[in-house]
Amino acid sequence: MHNRRDFIRTAAIAAGMTGIGSISEVMAAPSDKKAKAALNLSFQEGIAPGKNLNEKLDYMEKLGVVGFEPGGGGLAGRVSEIKQALQGRKIKVSAICAGFSGWLIAEDAARRKECMDTSKAIMAAGGELGSVGMILVPGFNGQQPSLPMPQAREVLIEQLKELGDFALKHGTTLLLEPLNRREAWFMRLVADAAAIAKDSGSAGIACIGDFWHMTWEETSDYGAFISGGKYLKHIHIASRKRRKMPGEDGEADNYIDGFKALKALNYTGYVSFECGTEGKREETVPAAVKLLRDQWNKA
Ligand code: MG
Repeated sequence: MHNRRDFIRTAAIAAGMTGIGSISEVMAAPSDKKAKAALNLSFQEGIAPGKNLNEKLDYMEKLGVVGFEPGGGGLAGRVSEIKQALQGRKIKVSAICAGFSGWLIAEDAARRKECMDTSKAIMAAGGELGSVGMILVPGFNGQQPSLPMPQAREVLIEQLKELGDFALKHGTTLLLEPLNRREAWFMRLVADAAAIAKDSGSAGIACIGDFWHMTWEETSDYGAFISGGKYLKHIHIASRKRRKMPGEDGEADNYIDGFKALKALNYTGYVSFECGTEGKREETVPAAVKLLRDQWNKA
């Protein structure tokens, strides 16, 4: 199970290190030596069937899902609702999915500040809920005008230092999410997101790997997760051709190579569903959970 306090402590220790020399060092020195890798499944709010949050959480609990990933939009106003719904359950808030406005690589400083301000409000609420972190995309293709490279990266890193330190104060992190080229030109590889997190110099900045985006951008699921190393703190999952429930795209939905890397990293974070479905949720959701458990055991 994920232990947030342990994570923050290790993250702070990791920040004091001079850097990682090699992949073998990352594998030999996982972020938490005592913890053993586990498949901690998490659902975004739209995944489970149910008329309201409580019905969805009941359904998740029956499936042994241990994480809940709410959207960041309006999160400050939902803290008590979510806390109450999770009371007495084994489910914890995993990550917070975006919800900010503006973007950090905008040419216009006002749009950058808008992103800083709205992200801070979401991280404060996410911290109260015990979230691992808030997921952020530095800039989508449609968000223009954006700064060109290399200025975009330099300006981003200046802002991340401040956002990361803010996140740490609230007991959480900011999680950079690489997307595929159809959605973002900037930051498309897990290695790139991890390198940006490293260069931010703040232990409050980490990254996620999303199997869906990785399908289109990465040469290897295993290599991608290993490249995230100690910065990899969250995973998104979906089917690999149409972004439906894992398994809906048949043979294409193979996650074993990625799961092998998570085991090598002693990954104890969440693997969170971010997908739609073509079928009935009552059938596709449990089938997906079973498929992932089977593949985890094979990895
Ligand atoms: Mg995602």
